[in-house]
Amino acid sequence: MAKSKSKWVCQNCGYETVSYLGKCPECMQFGTFVEEVTTISTLKDNSKPSNIINSDSKVSKLNEISLDEKVRFKTNIDELDRVLGGGFVQGSLVLLAGDPGIGKSTLVLQTTKNLCEIKKNKDEKLKVLYVCAEESPMQVKLRARRLEVEPENLYLTNQICIDEVINQIDAIKPDFLIVDSIQSVFCAGVASGAGSVSQIRECTNVLMRTAKQKNITTIIIGHVTKEGNIAGPKVLEHMVDCVINFEGDKYKQFRILRCIKNRFGAISEVGVFKMEDTGLVEVTTPSQILTEQPEGACGSAIVATLEGSRIFLHEIQALAGSTSYTNPRRVAVGLEYNRLLQILAVLEKKVGLNLSKQDVYVNVAGGIDIIEPSYDLALCLAIISSIRDIPISPTTIIIGEVGLLGEIRYVDNIERRLKEASKLGFKKAIIPKVSDKIYKKISSLDMEIKQVAKVTDAIIQGLKQE
Ligand SMILES: [Zn+2]
Repeated sequence: MAKSKSKWVCQNCGYETVSYLGKCPECMQFGTFVEEVTTISTLKDNSKPSNIINSDSKVSKLNEISLDEKVRFKTNIDELDRVLGGGFVQGSLVLLAGDPGIGKSTLVLQTTKNLCEIKKNKDEKLKVLYVCAEESPMQVKLRARRLEVEPENLYLTNQICIDEVINQIDAIKPDFLIVDSIQSVFCAGVASGAGSVSQIRECTNVLMRTAKQKNITTIIIGHVTKEGNIAGPKVLEHMVDCVINFEGDKYKQFRILRCIKNRFGAISEVGVFKMEDTGLVEVTTPSQILTEQPEGACGSAIVATLEGSRIFLHEIQALAGSTSYTNPRRVAVGLEYNRLLQILAVLEKKVGLNLSKQDVYVNVAGGIDIIEPSYDLALCLAIISSIRDIPISPTTIIIGEVGLLGEIRYVDNIERRLKEASKLGFKKAIIPKVSDKIYKKISSLDMEIKQVAKVTDAIIQGLKQE
């Protein structure tokens, strides 16, 4: 007998209650609760218990378990392979998340081109089944033609019922399954609409089970909400083996692929792509993303950051001006808002600036977000440069984290950051105090190196007018 169960689920965070609530006690959002009905079949009438119970599993001793290297499929797109830790692991479930329109479908379609070339055995190549639940197969075909991707073994279906997709899997027996997107497929057992928390959770469950049982590598595409959460719940992140975020501004050129969870490898690496007419192009030297700054512009500072094993150079821009509001505005694009407030507080207290009548806008040029704190000092100098109308030389690189006492804290890999900057023609570096051993290494670079202990020292060095 089938039993129906009704519950109210927050569409933002997945919080569940038995009755309607106006405000979610978990994420504090208003009006996010939707009633969802789940039909649970009781064990008695479950005709296919093999779906749930894995009869092959047995208990074994730890030292009897063999450590076979997992089979990995290299995509031959280096930027993607690096993020995955060497390619897709066979039978894993990977979630590719990002804003709508950022290029997720383009990326997977370009990936299938190489995947379909991999040989499974002597005469068979890998098969890929692409579930295009948002578009018609014709639209996908048009995009594939534009990207010059026309592999032989790529199967398309616009089936949006996940149970039917499983039947199609049994017929085609693919090695790869792509679901584009998880928000537009549904499972017949769940009564709520596609895209709701219950549906997303159940569909992912079904896909996970299929991936493990049939050893099919599965890629799920998921759209993120405005706040950057994978829509709607975080539960999805816990369920899959690997979560990759595709970040960037869809109106700008550069995209970053960042791994935020990986059961089969490290999560520190990033991949960089450039969106062009012919699709996504790999960027092998991300330090060259930096575009030239206008000569003598005030409010611009360059920082070298480290993402995984790669060095990035970013231009941080600041604009400060008198405000017409009682509460001055603070806007941060590409870096953390709270970090900006903290830096402004340090500048008021330790440098003696009065910012209570100043609007402050900061922006990372190029549209890529910076996460690590080594940009603090560059941000400080960019703001002061804008306030005092004194430019910072465009060949000066500024690196350092700023503490609450106005002290400059050490950041790691100074040597590699400076080497990269030197290669690109930077002539002066303002950095935190380093050990003699590191100084010996960086002093051989063709650069004037200034070590600073406090923000005030850095201002003297950075805004010196020749
Ligand atoms: Zn909530």
